[in-house]
Amino acid sequence: MLTSKVKATNADPRGDAGERNEFLSPIYGSRELTEAIPRYEFPDHEVQPRVVARLIEDELNLDGNQALNLATFVTTWMEPEADALMIKTFGKNFVDADEYPQTAEIADRCVNMLADLFHAPDASTAVGTATVGSSEAIHLAGLALKWQWRKKNPDYRGRTPNIVMGANVQVCWEKFARYFDVEPRYVPMTKDRFILGVDEAIDLVDQDTIAVVGILGSTYTGEYEPIAELSSALDELERRTGLDVPIHVDAASGGFVAPFVQPDLRWDFLLERVHSINTSGHKYGLVYPGVGWVLWRDQSLLPEELIFHVNYLGGDHPTFNLNFSRGSSQIVAQYYNFLRLGRDGYTKILTSLHATARWISQELEALGRFELLSTADSLPVVCLRLVGESSFDVFDLSAALRERGWIVPAYTLAPNASDLSVLRIVVREGLGADLAASLVSDIRIAMENLDQGHRPLEPAPARSEAVIPKVAKERTPTASTKSRNVC
Ligand SMILES: *Cc1c(COP(=O)(O)O)cnc(C)c1O
Repeated sequence: MLTSKVKATNADPRGDAGERNEFLSPIYGSRELTEAIPRYEFPDHEVQPRVVARLIEDELNLDGNQALNLATFVTTWMEPEADALMIKTFGKNFVDADEYPQTAEIADRCVNMLADLFHAPDASTAVGTATVGSSEAIHLAGLALKWQWRKKNPDYRGRTPNIVMGANVQVCWEKFARYFDVEPRYVPMTKDRFILGVDEAIDLVDQDTIAVVGILGSTYTGEYEPIAELSSALDELERRTGLDVPIHVDAASGGFVAPFVQPDLRWDFLLERVHSINTSGHKYGLVYPGVGWVLWRDQSLLPEELIFHVNYLGGDHPTFNLNFSRGSSQIVAQYYNFLRLGRDGYTKILTSLHATARWISQELEALGRFELLSTADSLPVVCLRLVGESSFDVFDLSAALRERGWIVPAYTLAPNASDLSVLRIVVREGLGADLAASLVSDIRIAMENLDQGHRPLEPAPARSEAVIPKVAKERTPTASTKSRNVC
């Protein structure tokens, strides 16, 4: 027995002997791992599946730990039953509705359920679609608003449509404006207002404003923008001037928070001026990355010209998406969560996340060195800045926490408040009470070490915009180190 093992180890794993005894040959001694595998050129040769899987897995160990990633709003854990369903549906292209009619039906049911959750006046005339995330959803909603504006203004040629929003918008709104030729009009932040100011927004509105955006859960601080107040102010503007300007609500995070923990908040289709809403299924919808939703309060708000009918997959299939092919598994997983959790389940989870966020906030505030910028009645997010004299800043603290594996980003706030640097902890499913207690204790220890002159191994994150890697031979700054890239 012993000899045959030795033989197998020494054998060329690609040869006959190797194939027969493949399971005995240790990966790390195999030929594949002693020969160079090209990193940037297209490889000439095949490599055994087991070996290549090991190689990639090893390399991915250098990534951060998903469970300790408190930078992201995006889901990093789902139930094993959902994992299994997703694996089974990896191979289904969602756009093949004729071949996979039941998957299409499931997506439609999700839209119906969301229309119900967001108080659409008539769930049978509300429309919506699954998207890859809120970014795609926002591009679609923005296009519908632009087309609506054109319809209302037949003499639109030569005029530039504009959209009014806080300077705290997520980067996808800047993309929408640039990609689709809409002038972005930003309401500036101030030293103590980090979300949209209603009066300031109204001042920017004119006859070419396609919409005012209200964010349910600012990416920067987690605060909700005052959407009901904005709606009343636009009503008043209409009475005064006749301008009838709709609201789009960017509820990327809050769409799956407010309905469950702040059910009395008026922000959704209950406000007549809210024409469309986007939300990210992969944030507090609790699905792995790759799903978002956009909904319109009724069909008349979605211009027919934007809907394409294709027949080359069989049948007539209307689509309104930027992508054609996409995976089905995230949509199936969203449906799983809706059926599995229902209102009660989501409420339990979100209530517990809020309790954790409040607890972390109180503990950190009690250290006497932080000021809280987040509020407990919005997203379960803890956003803090250092106050008083310190020999270090939040970027150093973020780097020091990274030594323990915690990923807690530091960044500057939006323009005009950009001299304020903050630390943000997004409380998601997976950050339980035990882990939260370790986090607070590690923050305290990290601050003590920094006070004593300890400097983290990792340089403080780059504070400038990173560029898209060209031919990536060197390490380029990662998304999480970019001040503007909060997601
Ligand atoms: C995350 C986020 C987005 C972008 O959503 P994706 O689903 O990541 O594309 C847009 N707006 C807000 C407010 C967000 O928090």
